Amino acid sequence: MNEPIKKIAVLTSGGDAPGMNAAIRAVVRACTYYRVDCIGVYRGYQGLIEGDFEMLSARHVSNIINKGGTILKSARSEEFKTVEGRAKAYENLKKAGVGALVIIGGDGTFTGGLKFIEEFNFPVVGIPGTIDNDIYGTDNTIGYDTALNTVVEVIDKIRDTASSHNRLFFIEVMGRDAGFIALNTGIGAGAEEILIPEKNLGLDRLVESLDKSREKGKTSSIVVVSEGDKIGKNVFELADYIKEKYPFYDIRVSVLGHMQRGGSPSCYDRVLASRLGVAAVEALLDRTSGVMVGVTNNEVTSVGFNKAIKMNHDINEELLKVAEITSV
Ligand code: ATP
Repeated sequence: MNEPIKKIAVLTSGGDAPGMNAAIRAVVRACTYYRVDCIGVYRGYQGLIEGDFEMLSARHVSNIINKGGTILKSARSEEFKTVEGRAKAYENLKKAGVGALVIIGGDGTFTGGLKFIEEFNFPVVGIPGTIDNDIYGTDNTIGYDTALNTVVEVIDKIRDTASSHNRLFFIEVMGRDAGFIALNTGIGAGAEEILIPEKNLGLDRLVESLDKSREKGKTSSIVVVSEGDKIGKNVFELADYIKEKYPFYDIRVSVLGHMQRGGSPSCYDRVLASRLGVAAVEALLDRTSGVMVGVTNNEVTSVGFNKAIKMNHDINEELLKVAEITSV
């Protein structure tokens, strides 16, 4: 741990998110700036176990800041969950002369990173890259802002057809454990109702809200549903339930799915990723390990992996109120 760090490796892990490439670029270029070699690890932790490495120079990462996905590919690695798998990864890093690691991903990725540090005392710093924004210790995760913009654009298009046909649309968006995408896009696209896992408002509340909409003369409605909504029904069952109660509604379901992960990152995500890539390299060179870098109140901050993984990024009560007030 006390030898000077001459080589830093970077990998992307878990679900891909727009802006991961901008983060890789920033890590590589920060390494160049501080005169440290940089190695790209392909396919996340699986590539670490298999030694799937490539030296990256500043020119290798030209023209990727605007690209979605990740040039390093991402993977879910069951083998890294075993001590033997992690030992292979450690051996490969040592063999390649790597002195520290930047991991870009979500809470699973940080859990793996924490174990790796505990077992091998190897310096690791994390960058939050996931569209769900479900990580404590940063206001936004990389990819979240782009996903919001993608979803709002699609809901705007669906609204055109909903209002032309007097339809009730249920739109499912990503977020298994967190309703950030649903709540923010619901407000941004003017949805009549928003269902999120953090607030189980129940079916009665949905029915009540639809009744109110009809009384007020609304002829079409958009309901944004987070995929992890805890109402006890999936979005299709929810639509069937409402159809039984209101046979006159022309109900449609749209599951947005993986398109939410794709596309060119927004300017916000590119800037966030660039700041965090530089911050991660600087933290490692300052001998910091076991933290995730983030941006809180527009300042670069860091938080221990333990907190980032275990603590909840709370849903904003004020936003819930805004959603209620503006959907009347
Ligand atoms: P996303 O939020 O996009 O799903 P994530 O980082 O949470 O991203 P996961 O699939 O949960 O995605 O984790 C990524 C990888 O991290 C796993 O494939 C595995 O290799 C490693 N990992 C996850 N949990 C553990 C664990 N308990 N121990 C060791 N490694 C883990």
